[in-house]
Amino acid sequence: MIEQALILVKPDGLSKSLTGNILTRLSETKLEIIAARMVRVTKKLAEEHYQHLKDKPFFPAVIKYLLGEYHDRKKVMAMIYWGEDAIKKCRQLAGATNPEEAEPTSIRGSYGRITTRGVYENVIHVSGNPADAEREIKLWFQPDEIIVDLYPTKDIVLNSVTKKTWA
Ligand code: UDP
Ligand code: MG
Repeated sequence: MIEQALILVKPDGLSKSLTGNILTRLSETKLEIIAARMVRVTKKLAEEHYQHLKDKPFFPAVIKYLLGEYHDRKKVMAMIYWGEDAIKKCRQLAGATNPEEAEPTSIRGSYGRITTRGVYENVIHVSGNPADAEREIKLWFQPDEIIVDLYPTKDIVLNSVTKKTWA
C-alpha cells in the first residue's frame, strides 16, 4: 500500500549531528521525501504529538525531550516519507522504541540511549500506523508544504490576518 510516515529527527539526533547518517539509512527504503522543515517546537505541539502518552509517568520528561530542553538544539527536523509500505519500512530501520532492545544496527540501536531520567532518547520518531500518520502530518505540516496531495483540503479566505514578512 502506498502510504506516508511522519519522521522527526529529535533534538538528540540534531545535537549529535546525526541528520546525514539518518537520511542515508532511510534512503535504503527507496521512499520519497515529500516534505521537510526545521521546526521550533512549542509546548502545545509537543503535547499534541505525544497525547497518547499523557497519563504515563514519563510524559513531562518526554515533552521536555521533544522541546529540546535536554539538548543545545531547541529544534526538530520534520519530514514525510512516502511510498510502498512507508511506515513498516521506516519503523524497521528505526528499530524498537527502547534503544537497549533495538536491533544494534538499527538507527535507534546505533545512536539511542536511555538517560538517567529514564527517557528513551531514541533519535527519531516514525509514525506507528496510517491513522497516527494522518494525525501527526496534519499537526506538523500545512497542505502547501507537501508536494503530494495526501488528504482532502479546503480553501478558506482569511481577513485581517497579521503575518510576518521580510522587512
Ligand atoms: N518513551 C520513553 N519511555 C517509554 C516509552 C516511550 O521515554 O517507556 C518515549 C520514547 O522517546 C518514544 C516516545 O516516548 O519514542 C513515544 O513513545 P511510543 O510508545 O509512541 O514509541 P515510538 O512510536 O516512538 O516507538
Ligand atoms: Mg509512537
